[in-house]
Amino acid sequence: MINNIEELGKHIKLTDDEKAWKEDGENTLPLLISDHIAKMLSNPAIRVQFVPSRKENEDTVGTLDPQCEKENSHSSRLVHRYHNRAAFLVTDRCFAYCRHCFRRRFTGKLTGEAGEEEIRDAAGYIKEHREIKEVLLTGGDIFTLPDSHIDRMLSIFKAECPSVIFRLCTRAVATAPQRFDSALFSVIKKNQTGAPYYLMTQFNHPAELTEESLKAVGGFLELGIPAFNQTVLLKGVNDDEGTLIELSEKLLMNRIKPYYLFQGDLVKGTRHLRVSIERGLEIEKNIRRELSGLGMPQYTADLPEGGGKVILTHDYLIGKDSSSYIFQTPEGEIRHYPL
Ligand code: SF4
Repeated sequence: MINNIEELGKHIKLTDDEKAWKEDGENTLPLLISDHIAKMLSNPAIRVQFVPSRKENEDTVGTLDPQCEKENSHSSRLVHRYHNRAAFLVTDRCFAYCRHCFRRRFTGKLTGEAGEEEIRDAAGYIKEHREIKEVLLTGGDIFTLPDSHIDRMLSIFKAECPSVIFRLCTRAVATAPQRFDSALFSVIKKNQTGAPYYLMTQFNHPAELTEESLKAVGGFLELGIPAFNQTVLLKGVNDDEGTLIELSEKLLMNRIKPYYLFQGDLVKGTRHLRVSIERGLEIEKNIRRELSGLGMPQYTADLPEGGGKVILTHDYLIGKDSSSYIFQTPEGEIRHYPL
């Protein structure tokens, strides 16, 4: 584990921008790199995701809470921004902090894990609000908690809200796959009652799909828990068609559905990692030609000021005449679809 810039400098030769990164008050996301990720830092696509840079300090555009979670929260840990789903912030800890993290306002802020009272309060709220059909267990990363704490939390939620789907949101399968041992899977199995779990992973580059990581995801699949992947579109990581196609194909081959390709949120400190929406749309159009519907993630942006998610896609319907809708095929040809 690496948690300071001097130590990091012993592992890799730091650039001037990396050396000049500074803790920056509220905007600071700590430096923390797991042993698993430390072994992969020679890959530039991994390095840029975990090694901090002065560019984070220079960003004056974004905000710390681009999704307006704070004002749509029942408590400091339960966000209820969408009518039918909520997010419970289990802990602020992760095994490694991603420099593009959209929840900088909370992640790594040393608030620690949710206590039993907070869990019971959240479970009570979810039970009372019957419109909530799905809850994201997120943070931070639930799997940084000891097995006994995960057991306690899942058993409370399952007892109080048996018909709610819980999404287990984790980057730990990519950053600390060794965490996923048989004892942990026994805890999950024990709490597999009522509505199903869904595993939500974040793999951003094919190099992250190591043998260990795929084994960790495989443990969930063996329990019958479906896996969906959310990728963040990041400059210097995956802003090229070939990388995203390879990632999608590899995910599919390992029974992980590519679900979202997120436009980077307008989070302060992450501007240097964001790809323009024009380029994102171009990538979306090009990879759609190469991937099946099964392999194609939805390119999505979270709109500022809590505007919610919108799907970004090339518009194939380009007009209408007296007898037909006019479409442009992905190859650029025109087709008329009768009214
Ligand atoms: S694992 Fe998730 S919550 Fe943690 S730093 Fe990365 S993006 Fe943020």
